[in-house]
Amino acid sequence: MAGNHSPYGTISRGDSSRRRRKRRDDTIRTILAVVLVCVLVLLIGFLGVNALKGNESTNKDNETNSGEEINQNGTQDSTEGETPEATEEQTPEQTEEPTEPPYVPETVTKEHIVWLDAGHGGDDWGSAEWVRNEAGQIIDANGKATTEEAADGQWVVREKHDTLDLSLLIQQELEARGVTVIMTRTDDTYVHRFDRAAQANESGAECFVSIHRNYMLGDREQCGIEAWLVNEITRAEKPGKEKDEDLTGFIFDELTALGDKTNGILGIFKETDPTQDISVLFRTNMPAVLLEMGYMSNDSDNEKYELYMQDYAVAIADGIVQWLKTQE
Ligand SMILES: [Zn+2]
Repeated sequence: MAGNHSPYGTISRGDSSRRRRKRRDDTIRTILAVVLVCVLVLLIGFLGVNALKGNESTNKDNETNSGEEINQNGTQDSTEGETPEATEEQTPEQTEEPTEPPYVPETVTKEHIVWLDAGHGGDDWGSAEWVRNEAGQIIDANGKATTEEAADGQWVVREKHDTLDLSLLIQQELEARGVTVIMTRTDDTYVHRFDRAAQANESGAECFVSIHRNYMLGDREQCGIEAWLVNEITRAEKPGKEKDEDLTGFIFDELTALGDKTNGILGIFKETDPTQDISVLFRTNMPAVLLEMGYMSNDSDNEKYELYMQDYAVAIADGIVQWLKTQE
């Protein structure tokens, strides 16, 4: 390949045969060069394609790695990762919530004082029920069925406990609505009826709500809620009583809205003989209502009292608050 050092310089001086051979050599060289160029072009092309493929696969690897990183992050953040899942799981519940919005009680905007009177207490049991067997028959100390007249001392004391349980719940509900509540009693203690009224009159309470339960001798079918107010004669003598029917109406509206959770509202009764429990109504100076929250002598009233006592408390508190707002 030494002659290639001066390939064209010798052509002008050499003979034709050498020139032809030279030309043939040049032709061969040209063909080889072309072939070489083609090979190079193909090689470069091949390498280029491979290189591109390599990049693609690398990118795919990177993407795979990225995916793995995301997954790893997801795994590492698994505790956080549960949050969106939990949120998604909660979404259906959240969408259900608007159909049943949380209850927001109405609150008072000014200061109000309510006297809440849990009936009876201590040695004053209020009404009590005979102990009965599953058939509803009164039984004596030996478990033998007997009559009301013959029954002696086998009692289920309920009223003083029932009135306190409900009154404590009403207190909570009223205080949650911004009302100041004064209680006659917060435990099983005895307070005379006259003292209840006298203390309430000195307290500045705007209304007096007394909680009791009813009892019907010899009639276990009688059921329902009722309210007792002073009679018209007393109302005429005590101007402060004139709004007691309004107060009772607001409470009854709320209790009526409870539907089957009560055995109905029997109505408002006005006593002409101010004795016993009802005396608190006559001795107080402000609007006062005595609520008989169902009959202890009726099994259905007792069952609903146990089941829906909280609902009763909310209803009574809402009724009182609505009346208080009419006084603002
Ligand atoms: Zn009572």
